[in-house]
Formats: sequence, structure tokens, C-alpha cells
Amino acid sequence: MPVTMPATADPTHPTTGLVRPPTGVGPAAPASLWVAMYHSVGDCSDDPYRITVSPHRLERQLRWLRRRGLRGVGVAELLAARARGEGDGLVGLTFDDGYADFTEHALPLLRRYGCGATLFVLPGRLDGVNAWDPAGARKPLLGKHGIRAAAATEGIEIGSHGLTHVDLTKADDRLLRSEVAGSRAVLTELVGAPVRGFCYPYGAVDARSADTVRDAGYTYACAVDPGPLGGPYALPRVHIGERDTSWRLHLKHRLHRLRRHPVEGV
Ligand SMILES: [Zn+2]
Repeated sequence: MPVTMPATADPTHPTTGLVRPPTGVGPAAPASLWVAMYHSVGDCSDDPYRITVSPHRLERQLRWLRRRGLRGVGVAELLAARARGEGDGLVGLTFDDGYADFTEHALPLLRRYGCGATLFVLPGRLDGVNAWDPAGARKPLLGKHGIRAAAATEGIEIGSHGLTHVDLTKADDRLLRSEVAGSRAVLTELVGAPVRGFCYPYGAVDARSADTVRDAGYTYACAVDPGPLGGPYALPRVHIGERDTSWRLHLKHRLHRLRRHPVEGV
């Protein structure tokens, strides 16, 4: 998996495809903001999109962070710390799609290493599967019970990934609002607390979808490589996979810092 998906990446790629928006210019993210993107934690044997890390690999990666004096936290916690002028030793950890294996495999490891994370779930697919991925294993998604259990765990933040995992840059206005504002309403009711974070399915973001996310009341949104978009509604993230051994993590960490320019306000 390359550090940065090429600009020519197929925008219809079902899981990690990126859309580089044609318009909209914003400041780049600050050099020290580092947010890792995970999806599923479990068996990696049938994983054409490389969205799965084994529990063993995740544990090694968390140990790698700890050895360097870094600690994983949810994105809202990371941004709040930075707003206070703190957070140098914090790394954002995110888990997309809300796979059921999060509570089974990821949560115990996060707790063991004193880390938090943001879990971006799909309230329109409660107890469903990753039906949007045409190839690879069907993976079960968390339902109400699992999402509430995760939300009740210290350090775990629940964010929205939309209702059903659609490319928002291709959605009409009504569908866009439903996926963004509708999912926030459902999740707020489900977890009994305000939902601050949004995560664009496929990492696909443009100025219209970012504006809709802001207007729906979210305080930040995660992309993958947001191109010219910047600021709190287009946070870049680094894909971390099963092949990311310590050395590769080190390289990604450095490269990610180098290719971003500092900016105020994130
Ligand atoms: Zn996703």
C-alpha cells in the first residue's frame, strides 16, 4: 500500500478509492497531526482491499507507538488537546465501517495499551455486512448493542461514516443530507451523546460534502488524502495495514509529516 494514493486512483474503488476534488482550496493540515486509518481487525486471508490487520499486527503497532512515547486517541480528543496547545505525543487512531471484530479484537488491545480511538459506524447498516465491497469476505458490522458497548468504553469515540456507505461526491442533495445529517441524528440517539466526527466513505470528499458535514453540526471530518481541501472537515489520514511493520510505520510517519504544511486552527 503506497503512502499516498496516486491522483489517478480509480474513484470507484470500493474501499480505499480517493477522489481528488477539482475545486476548493484550503490550507493543508499541520505537520504534526497524524491520524491512522484502520478498518477491520481479524483474519487477513481473504482481504483484496487490504482493509484488515491481524490482532497480532495491531498489537505490534500499538507497542511500536508506546516505545516512541506516543499514545493513540480518538480524533476529537486529539483535536481538543491540540486546541489547548498540547497533544504532541498523541496519534489519532480511527477504525472505519464499524466492523463487529472491533469489540472482539481491537478493544481489548486498545485497553491493554491505554489507547483510545474513533470508531466510524454506519447506522443504516446495523447488524449488516460490508455489502458495498464487491469482492472479499463478507464481514459483519456492529449493531446497536455493540456500538453502545464501544461508546461506553473509556477513550472510545463514536463517529458517523454516513448511513449506508455511499460516495457523497456522487450523491444528490437529498441523499447527501440524509447520509450526513440523518446518520448524526440516529447515532446521537443511539449513544445518547453528541456525535462530533464524520468520516467520508471511500475517502471521497469535495467542497459540497464538506459544507454539508459542517452544517449538520459535526466539528470535524476525516478523509484520506483530501487533495487541495484542508482544515477540520478534510483531515488527512494514513492507511495502516497488515504489511506495516515497525520500519514501514516509521517511514509513513516521517513522510506524512514531511508532505504536510503547518496551519493554524486544526
Ligand atoms: Zn468505509
